[in-house]
Amino acid sequence: MHGDVAASAPVWASDTDWTAINNGHTVQAAPAHGGAAGQIEIAGKTYDLVQFHFHHPSEHAVDAAHTEMEVHFVHKAADGALAVIGVMLTGGGAVGPVDAVLAAAPIHEGEAPAGIADPSALLPAGGLFDRYEGSLTTPPCSEAVTWTVTTEKMAVSDEASAAFSAMFPNDARPLQPLNDRELLIN
Ligand SMILES: [Zn+2]
Repeated sequence: MHGDVAASAPVWASDTDWTAINNGHTVQAAPAHGGAAGQIEIAGKTYDLVQFHFHHPSEHAVDAAHTEMEVHFVHKAADGALAVIGVMLTGGGAVGPVDAVLAAAPIHEGEAPAGIADPSALLPAGGLFDRYEGSLTTPPCSEAVTWTVTTEKMAVSDEASAAFSAMFPNDARPLQPLNDRELLIN
């Protein structure tokens, strides 16, 4: 089913100071000083970027093929509604913000400073976005949300992938059937 969801590209701050949190399910980055690290507007509603976290292997698949990892950028609206942008991540890339966050994350549950990083480094520049309504999967993904999965993948370093998979060997769930799938061209 094709819809015409009007959405802006996300506008994220490049100078956010992050805290890396090992919550027992994943490594999550949250603004160190609270608040939002940027916004996205979908269908006239503004959502704040409140955290991003990782899965290994990817939760989404293209032609049944998963990638090494997937990053979920979790946005929250004033009314509590969530909008998540998912980007499938392959290995073999350059060192980037993922490395800093994973290097800072405690091996056991806890949190530590990760420093300043630009999350846009993990977002494909423009192009196709696949958007659908669905529910989040593994914790902390637990509520109904508006999902956007970029069709273009990004690459993270093999070191980052290895570091995360050592902490969380498998924190992705099998794909659920997608209802009301919508394709959006930005
Ligand atoms: Zn997630």
